Amino acid sequence: MTQSIPLGEDFPEIRAGIRKICADFPGAYWRDLDARQDYPSAFVSALTEAGYLAALIPEDYGGAGLPLRAASVILEEIHAAGCNAAACHAQLYIMGTLLRHGSAEQKRLYLPQIASGALRLQAFGVTEPSTGTDTTQLKTRAERQGDTYVVSGQKVWTSRALHSDLLLLLARTTPATETKRRGDGLSVFLIDIRTSLGKGLEIRPLPAMINHNTTEMFFDALRVPASQLIGEEGKGFRYILDGMNAERILIASEALGDARWFIRTAADYAKTRHVFDRPIGQNQGVQFPLARAHAETEAADLMVRKAAALFDAGEACGPEANMAKLLAADASWHAGEACMQTHGGFGLAREYDIERKWRETRLFQIAPISTNLILAYIGEHILGLPRSY
Ligand SMILES: Cc1cc2nc3c(=O)[nH]c(=O)nc-3n(C[C@H](O)[C@H](O)[C@H](O)COP(=O)(O)OP(=O)(O)OC[C@H]3O[C@@H](n4cnc5c(N)ncnc54)[C@H](O)[C@@H]3O)c2cc1C
Repeated sequence: MTQSIPLGEDFPEIRAGIRKICADFPGAYWRDLDARQDYPSAFVSALTEAGYLAALIPEDYGGAGLPLRAASVILEEIHAAGCNAAACHAQLYIMGTLLRHGSAEQKRLYLPQIASGALRLQAFGVTEPSTGTDTTQLKTRAERQGDTYVVSGQKVWTSRALHSDLLLLLARTTPATETKRRGDGLSVFLIDIRTSLGKGLEIRPLPAMINHNTTEMFFDALRVPASQLIGEEGKGFRYILDGMNAERILIASEALGDARWFIRTAADYAKTRHVFDRPIGQNQGVQFPLARAHAETEAADLMVRKAAALFDAGEACGPEANMAKLLAADASWHAGEACMQTHGGFGLAREYDIERKWRETRLFQIAPISTNLILAYIGEHILGLPRSY
């Protein structure tokens, strides 16, 4: 590894800037949106205007040109403040596919507009109802006809599609039966949602346990100009895999932020809530789960930092990115449980925000990749055990 791992509060200016913005978006703001399953437009605008969503876009295209670790800090701080970055986090990592594999013309056309906030690239359509985690078997077809592709099929759980201008879509350009390897024959397209709606693209909200603005997308012979293909036809799965390490590191950072919020909230409460004439935090049954969650969070933080340092040094980081996601998701879930239990009945009261954060952090066990699939990755790729699926 060529880069040392930053310890302590790195990027202090970013941390201070995010904390300042988040102070304007207290629990009541998120509770109200949660009840209505509505999009945090004001919060996303504040982050955009301050330039945080353009952190990873190179300066030549109007962004800040910062390393992934800076984005990791942004997302951790948002979640540690009790807010939620799910409404806009995708822009930070899916933009990488366009940056690494897009043509000079595509980058010139889109990146400056994304950096300025004129265009939102927030939607990433991979998951399908019938194939789930088995991404290489996805069925949405994009058939070349002259200078267009005709796209037909269905996606599920495409978050933010109704609040994004652009969609990064993974679709099949060669039937699975005609490919040599499972990942072959898939291609990535950058689709303009605004001009596609009603012309072969329909998007329906998918109400969920958390306010994630997620949707189902239906493609019925949508015509997409061939100029919207990213990179080479048939290599899309590889391009998407490239971006997945970044996604896992960033989502792990959100989980870390959640864990910190839960532990801080619970410790504050445990010091001040008196039952049986003493603070509940004096009881080891209350104290120890919080202490354990804190230790798990600090350990996960180290793995997140290691993964980000490797990524930013341009080195392979698959094992670290996956382990960071696994450990941080577990830390946040255990911290959420401890926080909920520490609050007794009040943990379930909406006004405390704990039940909302607890629901939100549960997602990290499932998406963007489930815990089982990370364990399977560690078993196969790190320990050299037989592939289990
Ligand atoms: C709120 C939310 C937002 C999302 N946003 C997006 C998005 O923006 N874009 C997008 O493309 N997708 C999105 N997803 C989809 C998400 O990535 C998938 O839900 C996730 O990858 C799991 O896939 P699945 O739901 O189809 O589960 P399945 O693949 O059906 O798996 C179900 C269960 O079986 C387990 N399992 C499956 N196979 C194995 C195996 N071989 N070994 C052990 N266990 C196994 C899994 O771990 C899981 O627990 C989102 C999902 C949610 C809930």
